[in-house]
Amino acid sequence: MKRLSDGIEQFDGFPQNSINCYFSEGILFDSGVKFFSNRLIHQLQGREIVAQALTHAHPDHQGGSRAVSEVFQIPLWCGTLDAEAIESGRLSTQMPGNPISWLTGRLLAGPACPVARRLVEGDRVGEFRVLEVPGHSPGHLAFWRESDRVLILGDVLTNMNVFTSLTGLHEPPSFFTVDPALNRRSARRILELGLEPRLVCFGHGPPLRDTAKFLDFLRRLPV
Ligand SMILES: [Zn+2]
Repeated sequence: MKRLSDGIEQFDGFPQNSINCYFSEGILFDSGVKFFSNRLIHQLQGREIVAQALTHAHPDHQGGSRAVSEVFQIPLWCGTLDAEAIESGRLSTQMPGNPISWLTGRLLAGPACPVARRLVEGDRVGEFRVLEVPGHSPGHLAFWRESDRVLILGDVLTNMNVFTSLTGLHEPPSFFTVDPALNRRSARRILELGLEPRLVCFGHGPPLRDTAKFLDFLRRLPV
């Protein structure tokens, strides 16, 4: 794990920053793809882990969940509208109905995992406040910690071009996004809530510490 600040660590994935998981306050945020679950479990060894919380029910964020739950004997928490897919393992319901999405879901989806807690707007996950930011998946969540202004954003935006791996802010690809217009409204909601994150942690791409750049990108999103 790579320490981002006193309060949060990032899974050292491969390639670096391509598919991210974070660890803070004893909570694992997202579990990556199933092929890397052993690597994730290895990096988490020696830590006191109380739960895992998922930003959304896509295979690159829940792939390691069952393995992690079984090894560390911890509960899984996720957004209400993504819970059924995680419990059944049928993630295609949370993805658009195109062949690329379907194939990705089939090849990468991790095994089904029980959901112990269905999170809604305003819930607390440690010191983080749950934000409902649907669109990329129906039950997509973000997690906001006011004390040090850390935002775990999942795939509402990426800080990487997912085709070229070049760093930069983007909306997620529409063919992996159930409702791109709703996702954009969710992104704009970050502005409306007046959040000014000091550290933004994405599902894909390196963490961003440039608050002005992040807010400027949100302001420029087409209405
Ligand atoms: Zn993703």
